[in-house]
Amino acid sequence: MMDITALQQTYPIVKDLVAEKETVWANPDYGKPATLATTRADLFDAAARLRRFAPYFVSAFPETAETDGILESPLIPIKIMQTALNRRDDYQLPGRLYLKADNELPISGSIKSRGGIYEVLKIAEEIALASGQLVYMDDYAKLNTPAFHDLFSHYGIAVGSTGNLGLSIGIVAAKLGFHATVHMSRDAKQWKKDLLREKGVTVVEYAGSFTTAITTGREQAAQDPSVFFIDDEGSKDLYLGYAVAAIRLQKQLADQAIRVDATHPLFVYLPAGVGGSPAGVTFGLKMIFGGNAHAIFAEPTHIPSVLLGMATGLNEKISVYDIGLDGLTEADGLAVGRPSRLAGHEMRTLLDAITTFDDERIMAYTALLKDREDIKVEPSASAGFAALHDAQAVLAQRYPMRHATHIVWATGGMLVPAAEYARDYGIGEEFLH
Ligand SMILES: *Cc1c(COP(=O)(O)O)cnc(C)c1O
Repeated sequence: MMDITALQQTYPIVKDLVAEKETVWANPDYGKPATLATTRADLFDAAARLRRFAPYFVSAFPETAETDGILESPLIPIKIMQTALNRRDDYQLPGRLYLKADNELPISGSIKSRGGIYEVLKIAEEIALASGQLVYMDDYAKLNTPAFHDLFSHYGIAVGSTGNLGLSIGIVAAKLGFHATVHMSRDAKQWKKDLLREKGVTVVEYAGSFTTAITTGREQAAQDPSVFFIDDEGSKDLYLGYAVAAIRLQKQLADQAIRVDATHPLFVYLPAGVGGSPAGVTFGLKMIFGGNAHAIFAEPTHIPSVLLGMATGLNEKISVYDIGLDGLTEADGLAVGRPSRLAGHEMRTLLDAITTFDDERIMAYTALLKDREDIKVEPSASAGFAALHDAQAVLAQRYPMRHATHIVWATGGMLVPAAEYARDYGIGEEFLH
């Protein structure tokens, strides 16, 4: 059992977390020197692998032909939303606001299409190369043929997921021919389980929290050498897959003539669950933009797992349940009580700040984004709008904000069924008035 009283005395912010109070944590170690687990070379290696697989996607997922098999989302200026936010939250955001619309990413309609799919491809490439049936210079469209489906059918890919990671991994793994298994908590969204089963994925459900699902999934996979377990609590490959977003973003910013330099700093607001996707993106941004890009994470007040881990330095050794929180949130993509082993360590010197939000705010932002920009996202994906507002006071003390570029990372939503979206929108609308 954790001694919560002692923790609160040493780290006063833990009092806010225990009280489920909205709070802002400015990282005291931001910008200090550190040795990182991954390098710039790792980042570009991941980008090159995704490029090799582009012809595979064109062949296996025709909806990706439009972008030549590269899975990427648009960067959208959201001026009307910016005006609406200024009015609603009663502030004046300096600089310009954009949305990184990962809700439109092909295959899973979420940011998980970056990390989850990347790790599946890395596994598939290793197996195919080792079999002698593939060389690096081949047209990878050949992986979408019966010979390779047979090869991959001798292997399994398993993952523990709150939903979206399972969708991205399950769909691509099954399409390649792997036996795909997704371990989920019973309270995960029914439509996500249904969709996975429809795609030929085995869904195993667990009573209790997501931690039970991922722990049991990992143990089961460890007993079978033909099964690869994709570990959301510590995989470097997942992390690198997410990080590639930064290379793509650099091009999108250049194409829209958006400058990033000391007087034009870039701020990215990312929702955090286990912390892997926002940490990966942040690492990528740091490799590409260095000290001119800054990341802020957003977490629900009921499940601030990355903040609790980073503020106390205990990282994955503490969960929100240890400090008596219930872990309940409408943001199901963020409903993870224990942070990843990788995220907290890597973010110690790379992450600027973390903010926490009450659920009703993200429901309201979800509805507002639909009303003002006609963009549909899931509640988790609106979390960046809460961080955008809450972090400004801290950021203004640290950076020249006049020419800032702000990017709210909309992390998911495309596959949400209409009835489910209508329900979320209805709740959000109530909070708007
Ligand atoms: C998974 C997810 C996140 C957070 O990613 P983590 O790697 O768990 O921190 C944010 N938004 C959505 C929609 C997600 O599915």
